[in-house]
Amino acid sequence: MRNDKTDILKIIISEEEIQEKIKELAEKISVDYKDKNLLLICVMNGSIFFSVDLIRQLKVKADLDYISVASYHGTASTGAVTLHRDISTDVSDKDVLIIEDILDSGRTFSFLLKHFKKMNPKSLKSCSLLDKPDRRVVDVVLDYTGFIIPDVFIVGYGMDYDQQYRQLPFIGELKPEVYTK
Ligand code: 5GP
Ligand code: MG
Repeated sequence: MRNDKTDILKIIISEEEIQEKIKELAEKISVDYKDKNLLLICVMNGSIFFSVDLIRQLKVKADLDYISVASYHGTASTGAVTLHRDISTDVSDKDVLIIEDILDSGRTFSFLLKHFKKMNPKSLKSCSLLDKPDRRVVDVVLDYTGFIIPDVFIVGYGMDYDQQYRQLPFIGELKPEVYTK
């Protein structure tokens, strides 16, 4: 089976560490968005688990929508970002918070920030569970960051390799022989 732990070189962030960090982030966001009109935007598919766990921990009113973009094929970013499905919410009175799984080259976030700015939301901020600063090509400043990780290809907790490994409850480094095969 391709979703078990045998293809994982090592666990980078455990299930408990992920959930602990999400509680911390939710506390901060709940303070910052008190009396606001928060709309979380889940960036499909990678940030599904993160978005769902985060919204469950919030102590403020929050709505949820999703957007689907693609920029990543295999283990290397291709550069171009394409929009597959846009949100359906009118954001003119919303405080928008983009929820991503991982900030890598920065191309996806840069695309998303421009995309939502054009919609004129009341406010716009960014949140990513993971940040891989070593691979940045486009400058992006995150408002909320979970973990800073080294430049290794990771899977689990919603993140895939070739549409596999998403359901692993932890974040792990994939054995290089899996994607060099
Ligand atoms: P960026 O546009 O910042 O280069 O890439 C962002 C997207 O690439 C992320 O949303 C994520 O889907 C994907 N990505 C970047 N690094 C990794 C990684 O190590 N593993 C997986 N599974 N996806 C990654
Ligand atoms: Mg993503």
